[in-house]
Amino acid sequence: MERFQHYIDGAFEDGAATFESLDPATGVAWAVMPLADAADIDRAVMAAHRAFHAPQWAGLTATQRGKLLYQLADLVQAAAPRLAALETRDTGKIIRETSAQIAYVAEYYRYYAGLADKIEGAHLPIDKPDMEVWLRREPVGVVAAIVPWNSQLFLSAVKLGPALAVGCTVVLKASEDGPAPLLEFARLVDQAGFPAGVVNILTGGPEAGQALTRHPKVAHIAFTGGPDTARHIVRASAENLARTSLELGGKSPFFVFEDADLDSAANAQVSGIFAATGQSCVAGSRLLVQASVKDAFLARLKAKAEAARIGAPDRMETEIGPLCTARQRDRIGALIAQSLAAGARLVTGGQSVEGAGFYFPPTILDCTDAPDAPCLQQEFFGPVLSVVTFETEDQALALANGTEFGLASGVFTRDLTRAHRMIRGLRAGIVWVNTYRAVSPIAPFGGHGLSGHGREGGMAAALDYTTVKTVWLRTADDPIPDPFVMR
Ligand code: NAD
Repeated sequence: MERFQHYIDGAFEDGAATFESLDPATGVAWAVMPLADAADIDRAVMAAHRAFHAPQWAGLTATQRGKLLYQLADLVQAAAPRLAALETRDTGKIIRETSAQIAYVAEYYRYYAGLADKIEGAHLPIDKPDMEVWLRREPVGVVAAIVPWNSQLFLSAVKLGPALAVGCTVVLKASEDGPAPLLEFARLVDQAGFPAGVVNILTGGPEAGQALTRHPKVAHIAFTGGPDTARHIVRASAENLARTSLELGGKSPFFVFEDADLDSAANAQVSGIFAATGQSCVAGSRLLVQASVKDAFLARLKAKAEAARIGAPDRMETEIGPLCTARQRDRIGALIAQSLAAGARLVTGGQSVEGAGFYFPPTILDCTDAPDAPCLQQEFFGPVLSVVTFETEDQALALANGTEFGLASGVFTRDLTRAHRMIRGLRAGIVWVNTYRAVSPIAPFGGHGLSGHGREGGMAAALDYTTVKTVWLRTADDPIPDPFVMR
């Protein structure tokens, strides 16, 4: 079995304990992972805290930090085949997707490398003639980054890139499900030449997560995961009043209007819910289709769902790989059963695939006669699409905005004015019109409500890891006048 280690204070080491990671395609253990306890976490945070103040990091110019990030991006690109293969092996995400996504990972590091020396303060035209006042943008301190299993390299790049660009240091906790790619990535951080303690990478479950989020030296918690965990994290952040940015789940609506290009919409819907086996926060998991085209659109979708090639995730021709864990497969099965009991109708799929591995086929549930089915409100995080119909735009918007989530949305229509009305009316952090699941380091990403707050990607994310220092400098030579009044 392969063995992986933690990366703390510039050194590779075993964890307090170990656990075996299962290959989701077979259900068989393939690697031994370190498991962090509270003491491991404390050493990592203290290393990050020392590094934050050390001249080897704090004394670098922004351009020098950018160069380290460029170096990291190049190393990620060079190691892409190994990183993609490890992510596929440890999480079951198909190799087609991990290979494509790793290119984005390098691009995110490159984007923030370029941004490092373009983050400017400001000079204020202050209303006092003998004063110069300006704002400095300074790094907030130690960042605790916590990611879920589904895209660990990508979801950590969107945190590490901006945090390191502005001068923060980081303790990154990989998910205990599928941590191999991030523990391997630690080698690249080491090779890139970041000073010891600037980036620390560990894995562990809720115990390690709690130790990290409660730690008094953590200034910002950047979290991606589920809303229940987010509630724990926000409570933990109350200990030291750390800032939080939360990227959580969704129940994102995908609209198909009767004037849409149905073939294009069907491909986008497949990419939105069946790609990555539905383990995507932006999964377009609620199809809202205008009643007049429901049958035509569902026929296309059903054909595509049933034709999708289910198989070993490391084969390029595979389109649907296993889910990451048996727990996830069983949860999906239970939620489908509850939804069928509430009146949903099974269009296709619905049963986990027999045999080894944690496979679940593309599934479509028609909820036209089951408006209260749990599948319309709860996130599956799997390849399950719930369908409802609408007659009017107002009805469609009311349905779309009728959940506590607000992450992504997709609108398929050829009517430009309608598209604009939908863009205005949707309560979502992202609206894709006539496309779906497009990302770029330049574009912010995030949600409302139970989908979280804060944005990743773009300049806004970098500023999120800074604090503003207001500097007042008196230019007059005469003594300060009346010292008993505010100036
Ligand atoms: P999760 O919330 O169970 O776990 C996420 C991470 O939190 C893991 O590393 C886990 O070990 C850690 N954790 C667990 N308990 C903790 C605690 N008490 N304190 C601190 N950390 C703790 O999520 P998951 O099931 O691994 O991932 C699926 C969820 O992630 C879905 O809801 C999905 O929508 C969401 N997600 C969101 C985005 C986004 O960008 N909005 C992206 C991907 C996934």
